[in-house]
Amino acid sequence: MKPREKENLTARIFKIESLNTHNGPGYRTVVYFKGCPLKCAWCHNPEGISKKQEIWITNSTCIGCETCVETCPIDALTMTVDGIKIDRDICDGCFRCAETCPTKSIEKLGEDFTVERLMERVLEDKPFMDTSGGGVTITGGEPGIFPDFAEAFFRKCKENSIHTAFDTSGYVSENSLKKILPYADLVFFDLKIMNEEKAKKMTGKGVKLILKSLAIIAGYFKNHGTPAIQFRTPVIPGSTDDLENLQAIAGLLENEYAGLFSNWELCMFNDICEDKYRKMNMTWNYNDKKYSSSDFIEISRIKENYLNLNIEFSGFVSQ
Ligand code: SF4
Ligand code: SF4
Repeated sequence: MKPREKENLTARIFKIESLNTHNGPGYRTVVYFKGCPLKCAWCHNPEGISKKQEIWITNSTCIGCETCVETCPIDALTMTVDGIKIDRDICDGCFRCAETCPTKSIEKLGEDFTVERLMERVLEDKPFMDTSGGGVTITGGEPGIFPDFAEAFFRKCKENSIHTAFDTSGYVSENSLKKILPYADLVFFDLKIMNEEKAKKMTGKGVKLILKSLAIIAGYFKNHGTPAIQFRTPVIPGSTDDLENLQAIAGLLENEYAGLFSNWELCMFNDICEDKYRKMNMTWNYNDKKYSSSDFIEISRIKENYLNLNIEFSGFVSQ
């Protein structure tokens, strides 16, 4: 594909966040791609799982006017005692409800961007990146399922001297990695569950392709010195937090990838995303699951046993 053709590519994006400080150095403009091959039971961005454009509904701001119900051409919306409900099986994504809701309680999720349009948006934040040593981070969803777009976008970023970070589940093809890695300064690599069967049960996919991707990224780093690699593991009650799993990940990093990455971030579970599940009419599987301070102290002991892995903790909200 010629460079000019790549600029006409589109990708579906559900959020662009400026001044983010958790996804790489400095102030980041974080681009969230819509669509993911995994379906993690605890996903904190459920609006990024489906590739399709969707709506979500904030019933707390709904004034009960029922304009949306009257507007919907196929009766996919109903007013209930719990607020507006949508039948997603019949909704065809016309978004008339979102356009007519007077309180913006119904919002459209997912917009198609060309590389050029996304660059224009990102360049608005360039002064913040330049003064903070920041850049752009692509995440999702899984940006690796848009390889041509990600490659073209990162190439444009490099032309504009913008630092690039690629946040990936690793469930991507070798072809995709070959396109993105030459333009990535940093990779955030998620390692969630090492047991094949448990991974399939909790995320919908096994770990073989993920481990293959990791080997490819590490091999690329060995040969080129970039991209830098940081690991991330979501620590989820009853799903990823058993000692056996954390030790299996630690063992892999220690035995296979020592010296090839800067740190391993353990992202502690919190239920901040619960409201998103309500808005999407999806089931949140972690009701009443919370970490206490003593749970956190217990989990953080792993740091003492693996000092060489440069373990960092994030996201813990004291209950
Ligand atoms: S149009 Fe908006 S405010 Fe009115 S009932 Fe529907 S969601 Fe609520
Ligand atoms: S997007 Fe269209 S079809 Fe779907 S609920 Fe809204 S008005 Fe109805």
